[in-house]
Amino acid sequence: MRILLAEDDPSIAEGICASLRHGGHAVDHVASGSLADAALRDHEYDLLVLDLGLPALDGSEVLRRLRGRGTVLPVLVVTARDGLPERIRVLDLGADDYLVKPFALAEFEARVRALLRRASSQGKPELQLGRLRLDLPGHRAWIDQTPLELTAREFGLLEALALRADRVTSRAQLIEALCDWDQELTDNGLDIAIHRLRRKLQGSGTGVRTIRGLGYLLEEAEESGSDPA
Ligand code: CA
Repeated sequence: MRILLAEDDPSIAEGICASLRHGGHAVDHVASGSLADAALRDHEYDLLVLDLGLPALDGSEVLRRLRGRGTVLPVLVVTARDGLPERIRVLDLGADDYLVKPFALAEFEARVRALLRRASSQGKPELQLGRLRLDLPGHRAWIDQTPLELTAREFGLLEALALRADRVTSRAQLIEALCDWDQELTDNGLDIAIHRLRRKLQGSGTGVRTIRGLGYLLEEAEESGSDPA
């Protein structure tokens, strides 16, 4: 999943980024409200983690503009501002959840998982394609009952393809889903990840088909190779 973090405190941002990346997410970090507003217009995210006390544009204004555009992106507000009126105001502006600083990272991670679970695939935390099953918030996949050993990048790739099953996903869309601004995924790197994912999917009845010039399609595949008959 790709997450935008808007937080101007460097040490808090560092902790949150590390925790989300450890969880296998791609994270873009901005330290002002105006940059958050711009990033939300230019990129597609699965979750926004929003500090309210931001320079240039207040977090609540970022949220008001986001909801004004009609987006349903899940928003987790993290703020030092406490008090009942403030919490009610932020939820009424369209936040999905609210965490007061300082908070334990374990609680933050649990709230992120809950929001992503609710949002992913319109509330379906699991995806089933043939014999392949994905637990999206848990970052796990199985062929029948056998767990697939996937790296965070391979799971991200499989997830991006599975969420668009029956449609072709372009290389640019895959790179967008897998990368944040601090990372680079070269064409070669994407090819390697696809190659490894294909090997791990062998025997699953699901494969990644190349649609020349357009991208990739996750589909139920004829088993071939191991048994030519
Ligand atoms: Ca702040």
